[in-house]
Amino acid sequence: MPNAAEAANPFETAKRQVDIVADLLKLNGGVREMLKHPKRELTVNFPVRMDDGSYRVYTGYRVQYNMARGPTKGGIRYHPNVSLDEVRALSAWMTWKCAVVNLPYGGAKGGIICDPKHMSKGELERLTRRFASEILPIIGPEMDIPAPDVYTDSQTMAWIMDTFSMQRGYSVPGVVTGKPIALGGSEGRGEATGRGCAYVIREAAPHAGVKVHGGSVAVQGFGNAGSVAAKILHDEQGAKIVAVSDSQGGIYNADGLNPHAVEAHKAKTGTVVGFPGAKAISNEELLECKADILVPAALENQITKANADRVQARLVAEAANGPTLPEADTILFQKKVTVLPDILANAGGVTVSYFEWAQDIQGYFWELADVNRRLERVMTQSYAAVHETAEKYKVHNRTAAYVVAIQRVAEAIRLRGIYP
Ligand code: NAD
Repeated sequence: MPNAAEAANPFETAKRQVDIVADLLKLNGGVREMLKHPKRELTVNFPVRMDDGSYRVYTGYRVQYNMARGPTKGGIRYHPNVSLDEVRALSAWMTWKCAVVNLPYGGAKGGIICDPKHMSKGELERLTRRFASEILPIIGPEMDIPAPDVYTDSQTMAWIMDTFSMQRGYSVPGVVTGKPIALGGSEGRGEATGRGCAYVIREAAPHAGVKVHGGSVAVQGFGNAGSVAAKILHDEQGAKIVAVSDSQGGIYNADGLNPHAVEAHKAKTGTVVGFPGAKAISNEELLECKADILVPAALENQITKANADRVQARLVAEAANGPTLPEADTILFQKKVTVLPDILANAGGVTVSYFEWAQDIQGYFWELADVNRRLERVMTQSYAAVHETAEKYKVHNRTAAYVVAIQRVAEAIRLRGIYP
């Protein structure tokens, strides 16, 4: 959960989170220290030829945080603000996310300091291929499996897969996930995050005292994760979507919005704003609107100590990473609002990435219905584990999710023992 506004250094936040859980679990000094240190970090500085014939040197990172439970997994982001500490923190959060849904993976993350909005497709391809070559010694289907993140996509993954395969001399689709289906991507990967989020909402609703069927839902951020969650809650679970938003603003209709019609409007006009029959609201108003369930699916740091008290929803499902600041968590917990933390609520994406990798290394591909059925099982079991832990330790779901995850990683470390 990157809470950058409160902590200038996200890795300090990540370590603090480990300490809180380690105290609860009474983890001894050695294991605690291992959980607070990235296992392996690679920094690479490499030249890229630009379209005008000049070349520039870029800096990239790949951090493999913990591999006690299996090969490491995590995205690669392209952004001017990438830093080693940010990548470290993100790799720690990937470790806990993979563990909370019980995937046989450790966590990793990568990034390149660059400004992808001002680079041509050719420059991005050369940047990607050279970075892939630089980190090649430490990635691979049995070692570390990258995926898309901020400003990287299925095309980026296709280039990495091709670069890796050229070095091996044969196709290695399992080296990355989030690939196009034609190159060994999985059915269902595109909608997995929103779908997984809808499943955990369904599981949590009875404990939160809300009904999904006939209940009202507000979704901040009608992008990949948010629009899919809205459509599945509407189509499959009978929820009424009363508010949605994007970067340009939000719309509200107490009688319900048809998310497919909103999607068509957005495809045509570029925004949900101006959807016929809906009242215009701001993104701030959306967070506080009258709805049973709130799905923040846009950015981090949205629910703060300034507005947490005005959140009316009884259930908040974090499709986005880090939308709730720690002080807001406390306020929501005191108000008895159930929060489904990001490492659980948006773990559907990495879960279907795991399915993609499993299909690639088997060379046997599943139908969409199989993917969704297995995703549903993973999300249902993961919610149950988090809920049980929250009751046992009398903590909120976020701490409970960290307890489940860190306990699993600590157990793997203990069973493996210390080499030599
Ligand atoms: P996306 O780019 O498809 O959608 C983001 C949406 O948020 C867009 O509709 C955008 O207009 C909107 N938005 C941007 N700024 C906003 C603002 N200030 N207020 C309201 N809305 C705003 O991205 P996505 O893939 O859906 O990711 C959304 C969140 O979900 C991110 O936090 C991401 O890290 C997280 N997430 C996504 C996945 C995935 O598989 N897509 C997996 C895990 C976590």
